[in-house]
Amino acid sequence: MNDPYHPLGDARLYRGVFVERPNRFLMRCAVPRYGTVEAFVANPGRMDELLFPGVTPVALTRVPADVERRTRWTCVGCDTPDGEPLFLDTHRTNDVAAHLIDQALVPGLKGWRVEQREVPVGHSRFDLQLARGSRRLFVEVKSCTLFGGEGVAMFPDAVTDRGRRHLEELAQMGSGGAASERPVVLFIVHSPHIRWFMPDYHTDLAFSRTFLAVRDRVRILPVGIRWNRDLSVAPESVRVKIPWKFLDRHVDDRGAYLLLMRLRGPRRISIGQLGEHRFEAGSYIYVGSAMAHLSRRVERHLRRRKRHHWHIDDLRQVADDVAALPIRSAQRQECQLAASVSRYASIAMKGFGSSDCSCDSHLYYRAEPPMEDVEFHRILQQFRMRAPSPSP
Ligand SMILES: [Zn+2]
Repeated sequence: MNDPYHPLGDARLYRGVFVERPNRFLMRCAVPRYGTVEAFVANPGRMDELLFPGVTPVALTRVPADVERRTRWTCVGCDTPDGEPLFLDTHRTNDVAAHLIDQALVPGLKGWRVEQREVPVGHSRFDLQLARGSRRLFVEVKSCTLFGGEGVAMFPDAVTDRGRRHLEELAQMGSGGAASERPVVLFIVHSPHIRWFMPDYHTDLAFSRTFLAVRDRVRILPVGIRWNRDLSVAPESVRVKIPWKFLDRHVDDRGAYLLLMRLRGPRRISIGQLGEHRFEAGSYIYVGSAMAHLSRRVERHLRRRKRHHWHIDDLRQVADDVAALPIRSAQRQECQLAASVSRYASIAMKGFGSSDCSCDSHLYYRAEPPMEDVEFHRILQQFRMRAPSPSP
């Protein structure tokens, strides 16, 4: 009864290395003896912090010969940067959740059994309907692969309007009665080492605000699970806490941000009163903050045309591939963030963006794109995924 569960049945696993992901559903992977193969990936998440070209080990299955499909492979798993196996196939997250519930392995849902899958309710569909005697419970299942920092998991890893709507719909179904009667959102966190679960308010502020707003009508239940190397799931799960007080304080549109930019070739650029400066081809990381209206600030940076006000505006105007990474917080941590980035990348220009503080610069240079670098993601997670302390 308490054996590991194999969501892939007895499908054979092939090992390879991640090469690239041209779009959300397609991956290229190098598989020994098969060369570079195209694989379908059944996971809508971005997974930027997991998939590193030429580095990340992946697990694949082959599509049986009699099944018609363009890609002949499916990527079903990968290793985390810490070397732990991780299951990626979100099409089977409901199978895993149903198995754990039926085996009474989900704290908070013991005694319930799965009665129906893909239950239509109004205009929506919910993943599971549970039964216990004459009582019924709706469960929406979400798969969470974004975790790290100090034992913190976050969801979503990309903006999800659908996820936010699901929360609202579940909240409308919840009567506000006893906690055990409320519809459930079950977050399956694919790691047993996680202590805290939070909505990712850095990436999706609207989802996070809804997450906080529905807490009295929806039971939010995050559990951590352990994957074995053969992509079976261990017969156990760990309840993960939500630090509500911490979230009430920090889920707000303020904090610091990193702006990533790329110059395709070297450029001489005039930077405000600092004068002209030669910028090499490569990647630039700018550290800024806005302790109010952070979204508006970030949107301003993403626009090319505007009246120039800051040093960064002069560089941004000629830069390509501009991307912003908000790091929301009630605390001012811009210079602390700059100090961490300065240990990772070199100063691009002295005095840039640091007229009002004692930092040497707020602009850093690195030849290769930071988003494809494990070390950069560690810095990002160190700031984005701080454990609530000293008490939640
Ligand atoms: Zn500073």
